[in-house]
Amino acid sequence: MMHNEERTFIAIKPDGVIRGLTSTIIKRFEDKGYKIIGLKMLMVTNEMAAKHYEEHYGKPFYNRLIKYITSGPIVAMVIQGYNVIKGARQLMGATDPADAQVGTIRADFAQLKEYNVVHGSDCAESAEREIAIYFKPEELCTEWKNMAEIVTEKEDL
Ligand code: UDP
Ligand code: MG
Repeated sequence: MMHNEERTFIAIKPDGVIRGLTSTIIKRFEDKGYKIIGLKMLMVTNEMAAKHYEEHYGKPFYNRLIKYITSGPIVAMVIQGYNVIKGARQLMGATDPADAQVGTIRADFAQLKEYNVVHGSDCAESAEREIAIYFKPEELCTEWKNMAEIVTEKEDL
């Protein structure tokens, strides 16, 4: 069987942070078993927002989208796991919360597609591109020991 371990970029958007949903949204991804390998809170600059959403430049919602994503802090994450790009999008639900399946983040915590609380990369190329906008390679924690190794090494406990 083929297992495809990937990384994706996730952001809790300003409405999610302001509404106190940070821990709840992170928990959805952690509970699935995805490994958080990068995490920070930041204000998105206009330059970063333009890079992130370049595919939407010129669309009717573009200006409002840039205003939204730069309107307050976001919590940016890189998560890793098997088929995580598709899996994270499944957990998020459809762009418009009204179309999202009940049980998904957007269905459970949002009402409008303009304020849909979470972002996740849509394909491998987007994931690499978006991770590079928000994280330097050295900001990602990729080498983890498991708990058994840590306990075994602690002979001075
Ligand atoms: N968006 C919007 N109006 C629209 C479509 C999208 O405000 O008609 C916003 C929404 O916040 C969405 C983001 O633009 O999450 C990016 O749109 P995309 O189609 O890439 O959706 P996503 O990948 O986030 O599900
Ligand atoms: Mg998208």
